[in-house]
Amino acid sequence: MDRLLLLIPTTSYRVSDFLEAADRLDVEVTVGSDQRQVLEKYSQGRTVTLDFRNLDRGTKQVVDFARRFTLRAIVATDEETTVLAAKASKALGLPHNSPASVESATNKHRFRVALAEAGLPSPEFTLVSLDDNPAEAARRVDYPCVLKPLTLSASRGVIRADDPAAFVASFHRIAKILRTRGSESPAEVGQHLLVEAYIPGTEVALEGLLTRGRLNVLALFDKPDPLEGPFFEETIYVTPSRLPEEIQGAVAAATARAVHALGLHEGPIHAELRVNEDGPVIVEVAARSIGGLCSRVLRFGVGVRLEDLILQHALGLPIESLEREARPAGVMMIPIPRAGRLQHVHGLQRARKVPGVEDVTITIPLGQEVIPLPEGNKYLGFIFARGEAPEAVESALREAHSRLEFVIEP
Ligand code: ADP
Ligand code: CA
Repeated sequence: MDRLLLLIPTTSYRVSDFLEAADRLDVEVTVGSDQRQVLEKYSQGRTVTLDFRNLDRGTKQVVDFARRFTLRAIVATDEETTVLAAKASKALGLPHNSPASVESATNKHRFRVALAEAGLPSPEFTLVSLDDNPAEAARRVDYPCVLKPLTLSASRGVIRADDPAAFVASFHRIAKILRTRGSESPAEVGQHLLVEAYIPGTEVALEGLLTRGRLNVLALFDKPDPLEGPFFEETIYVTPSRLPEEIQGAVAAATARAVHALGLHEGPIHAELRVNEDGPVIVEVAARSIGGLCSRVLRFGVGVRLEDLILQHALGLPIESLEREARPAGVMMIPIPRAGRLQHVHGLQRARKVPGVEDVTITIPLGQEVIPLPEGNKYLGFIFARGEAPEAVESALREAHSRLEFVIEP
């Protein structure tokens, strides 16, 4: 029987959604993770421990595993595993994106270089070493600008600076995040940060699936909360977009050009763009699907989930439809308002009763420490809503959020 390898980091929100999708298909599944499973030896190939940091070692481990259990496809569920999926697929001759293309999507500096080389609209950018003198670097850039680590995600360590003093403060703050991560990141990415010109405009997110280089747009989300910094907290996503059709077309075209510039060909992509008078500008393209539990807001045909599409595509199985249901839908990632320990969550029942709200899920266990942006990388939970119009979805999400009270004690 066909076997699928899912590369799932232990921090992933998406284990159950991908496993359930795999269950719906007629395939055997192996979960590859970076933490040893106690019963791995007896698991008949259902789990395998892989080195997610050392890519050569991880690739070799996948190849060894595939000698005993033939693999038909390898799927990365999260950003951390996309490069390993590409490398291991290449080693096994499975359909894949080139490792270089995925690396360009994962490393924000390489990403900007690739777009600039392709002549695509992109902000000015410069790489700054943690060994550089920040006050001196601060004099070299224009303001406002955005400082960011090269490989983190969920807006962690992304900070806007409007003047040299804010630049220097942000520099130290990001350096501290990178140092605390320490050995987690390879030297090159842990030793630098990227500085980009601030791109004004409203932000959208595009969820897509590449098939032989062709971009299929699965959903375009508006992000109705202003994202002007200094930190860039993700909150509400609503689809379909309320932007005029022609701008939506321009967003899709810009994303397709960026994807080609990177050299990505197959599988899910998640892109973020800002739209202003000059048209759409790419903020980011990731070679993976939307993060957190957000994919739960998408449905295709009767009960088909995003994870189903991703696995069907990876296995070369027929896909009935890539068209999202017509009903407007949205999700709110509930941001962490302050640091401390999450003691109580009040108002859950009342929040769930808001018309249009389908679910409210708290993803942080009570008693756990919570860290807000820019240091943190988690959400308190997710609110899901559907409605007759995008406006109604947005108000339902806001109303549900206002009914929640999070008791966070220092
Ligand atoms: P991450 O991979 O952590 O999500 P991004 O590069 O996507 O990092 O940045 C996170 C958010 O910060 C973006 O969604 C956007 O709102 C904001 N941002 C990042 N770069 C810029 C920029 N050059 N101009 C304006 N906003 C930016
Ligand atoms: Ca992003």
